[in-house]
Amino acid sequence: PEIEKRILEFWNKNKIFEKSLKKKSPKGDFVFYDGPPFATGTPHYGHIVASLIKDIVPRYWTMQGYRVERKWGWDCHGLPIENIVEEELKLKDKKDIEKTGVDKFNETCRSKVLTYAKEWQKVVGRLGRWVDMDNAYKTMDLDYMESIWWVFKQLWDKKLIYKGHKSMHVCPRCETTLSQSEVTQGYKDVKDIAVTIKFELEDEPGTFVLAWTTTPWTLIGNVALAVNKDIDYVKFKYKDEIYITSKKDFDDYDKGKILKKFKGKELVGKKYKPLFNYYSEENLYTIQSADFVDVEEGTGIVHIAPAFGEDDINLGREKNLPFIQHVNMDGRIKKQAKDFAGLEVRPKDDSLSTDKKIVNYLGKKVFFKEEYTHSYPHCWRCDSPLLNYATDSWFVNVLKIKDEILENAKDINWVPKHVKEGRFGKWLEGIKDWSISRQRFWGSVMPIWICDKCDEKEIFGSIKELEKASGAKIKDLHK
Ligand SMILES: [Zn+2]
Ligand SMILES: [Zn+2]
Repeated sequence: PEIEKRILEFWNKNKIFEKSLKKKSPKGDFVFYDGPPFATGTPHYGHIVASLIKDIVPRYWTMQGYRVERKWGWDCHGLPIENIVEEELKLKDKKDIEKTGVDKFNETCRSKVLTYAKEWQKVVGRLGRWVDMDNAYKTMDLDYMESIWWVFKQLWDKKLIYKGHKSMHVCPRCETTLSQSEVTQGYKDVKDIAVTIKFELEDEPGTFVLAWTTTPWTLIGNVALAVNKDIDYVKFKYKDEIYITSKKDFDDYDKGKILKKFKGKELVGKKYKPLFNYYSEENLYTIQSADFVDVEEGTGIVHIAPAFGEDDINLGREKNLPFIQHVNMDGRIKKQAKDFAGLEVRPKDDSLSTDKKIVNYLGKKVFFKEEYTHSYPHCWRCDSPLLNYATDSWFVNVLKIKDEILENAKDINWVPKHVKEGRFGKWLEGIKDWSISRQRFWGSVMPIWICDKCDEKEIFGSIKELEKASGAKIKDLHK
């Protein structure tokens, strides 16, 4: 370490990095912009490893005769700093932030966001990394935010941005949607209650269709059941009641006596009695056919709640089913479900408490219940269990350009090689439209103005365009 310190001192005193940028570069220039970290925490091993790679490669090309400018950056926006400020100002949720004032909240974020910049400078310097931290770019800078508007308008003009009502993952505490990549950061094994529920057929009292779910709280939003018309089902007698499940599920447990075997299509169109009596929309509580239903897990009969699942919302659209959203984005049950109104569906400290209340309430309508351990997503910032929740969000239409993306990805030179077809390639194959809007405060605002009356939309791609349209001088693009 003593030698290292001496060398670092020599580099600093003689401005060796700066000189490496001034020397002749017969081969040309590279520019390196760091993918910026948050300065709301101190650097960890992951940052250090990445930092070394980001140092070695530019050094190599410098030694090959190129000039390689290296610019540091700071990621300033989003939940990491918002959560810290919420705690500092003792704000419990979004409503508290609005009460305090979004401008005050944002100013506090701005003043705290570079708290650990000094620590970073120390660590990055000590690593021996050459990078210009004095002229770092910040994602909260006016010109940086303007560049996002420029990108947004480019996408808009290419018709690659749209607003959609989709099944997303939301954090009920942060009350916002999250992107796919944010969701993948928070998977943890949790214990849930898996229940098999009895749905009584309308035209055959005493005969129950069995459906299985690991999220009892979504049962209030049930609007239909789905079967696969080509799968084998059985009607069987157990104790004094008659049940319907898949042949596979029956064979797994082998309880009772089979009365009849048949294909799923015989069930399609039948009606069943609701579990709760809170809703009276038309076309509720029917059995539908859906190709995604299989017999891998459960009974081959799927409880459909379009407000809480991707397959569900798609089927709901296809079959024109009613949409029952019995939960607000803050995770609390709405008034209409009166026995459970106000309860959080997945409280952070006791995530099953509401599920248990619902299972108790259903009483004899529960055929079977068991503990079920599976991987479940949590908020990458506040660790609350996420909810699968249908809501409005703005998307980049990635699927529209997927072929082009796959084509271009072939030209990427990966080190190590296996990443190309492996982790990166697999991720690309499963790529989805990118959710870019967050229902939060401290971040880049989307430059869309929408007319209340005729829904006409105007997009601004620069400060100049906005100044011209508004007549105002623009000094900041935050909320
Ligand atoms: Zn959260
Ligand atoms: Zn208008």
